[in-house]
Amino acid sequence: MTETLKPHPLVELRGITKHFGEGQTRVYALRGISMTVLSGEVVGLLGPSGSGKTTLLNVIGAIIAPNEGWMRLDGEVAYDNRWLRRDLRRLRLEKIGFIFQNHNLLSFLNAIDNVALVLQLAGLPREECTRRAMELLDYLEVGHRKHAMPSQLSGGEAQRVAIARALANRPRIILADEPTAALDSVRAGIVMDLLRKVAVEQQAAIVAVTHDEKIFDRFDRIFRLRDGVLAGAEEQA
Ligand code: ADP
Ligand code: MG
Repeated sequence: MTETLKPHPLVELRGITKHFGEGQTRVYALRGISMTVLSGEVVGLLGPSGSGKTTLLNVIGAIIAPNEGWMRLDGEVAYDNRWLRRDLRRLRLEKIGFIFQNHNLLSFLNAIDNVALVLQLAGLPREECTRRAMELLDYLEVGHRKHAMPSQLSGGEAQRVAIARALANRPRIILADEPTAALDSVRAGIVMDLLRKVAVEQQAAIVAVTHDEKIFDRFDRIFRLRDGVLAGAEEQA
């Protein structure tokens, strides 16, 4: 139905400010950030080192608290000068998927168990975890590597397993910090294609921090941060 595919806001930030430290040593990481990301969108977050990209991703992911502002995630006001939810862990589990630069897979678990673990933590029965983990690995075209340990996976395979893991709890918001930094251009392209597929097919919003010029043209829009301030979003061609 076209109605359900109509883009709608999944990430909405208004006047988000974050500082670290106090007094003389206070550092402003984010200064009055306002932005909106819609379902089905893949947006890039660019800016020099220290400009606040990781802090912004961590605020959206409810990992660190801002100092002021307002934030709605997937239709729910999560922050309004304070967290409106006490169970932030559950909020993250319900709404957010994280992908890191270096995949962060657990070295002592094989590919399928890395994905299944998230489902176990969410309380699914064991057989259901394995079944869904397999389905996710297949979806990310890395099912044939299910028994491989992280050390046996190539960089691209490991990142696809990490994306499968990020999708395990069916989040609508996927946050990625430099997801292709460790990959060559072919594998970076494959990862971006998969993120695009996720955005379109799961109607998710994807926010990816990147320095990687070889993927700039893969974003719908690019937000630029400088000293904690967001320049207007630019539409990509
Ligand atoms: P980026 O990811 O764009 O490199 P960050 O979000 O990591 O930037 O950092 C933005 C600013 O906030 C920097 O000045 C950084 O030193 C500071 N900062 C980030 N995290 C902390 C922290 N936990 N404690 C103190 N300062 C921090
Ligand atoms: Mg960073």
